[in-house]
Amino acid sequence: MRAEHCAGEEQESSPGLPQGSFGPRADHGPGPGPSQQHREWHHWLGRGVVRLWTLPNTLLGLVCLPLALATGGGAQWVRGVCEIYGGAVTWLLRRVVPLQGGARALTLGHVILGRDRRALALCREHEHVHVRQYERWGPLFIPLYLGWSVWLGLRGRSAYLDNPFEREAYDAVPELLAEDERWLA
Ligand SMILES: [Zn+2]
Repeated sequence: MRAEHCAGEEQESSPGLPQGSFGPRADHGPGPGPSQQHREWHHWLGRGVVRLWTLPNTLLGLVCLPLALATGGGAQWVRGVCEIYGGAVTWLLRRVVPLQGGARALTLGHVILGRDRRALALCREHEHVHVRQYERWGPLFIPLYLGWSVWLGLRGRSAYLDNPFEREAYDAVPELLAEDERWLA
């Protein structure tokens, strides 16, 4: 059983905020002014709303945490996302995901499931595009994703590779597309 917490290794990014705005100031000058505090408050309020909007999908993913830990898998916290891998998660990705050969990784809200840590490292950038899609669409994401897949499948297209959500994720990491086309062949 292995559960690791890597928050200290990779911090969640804070776009729009100056570096070091939360740490002690080297020049011992006055602290952040009211407008900066206001921006920081808005930023963290916004992140909270996004986490809530994505929470139903995240909870779905977190169901896999005890399953993985009880079957020899592990978990780690990387870039604001809980990554769960190994054990029963490997079996689920291999056997339950309806893709030829199964999936190496899969995102559910702020949870990324991976076969192992190597698969997570390989797919992380792609999966983080899906994280942002979940943040945008919240509980609508899975129905929209599946709706696109069914519609594309009925039209004789690839329910996976032609899905606009996948296309956006592969556009962000084009080098993964060639590898996954071989994987799915
Ligand atoms: Zn994908």
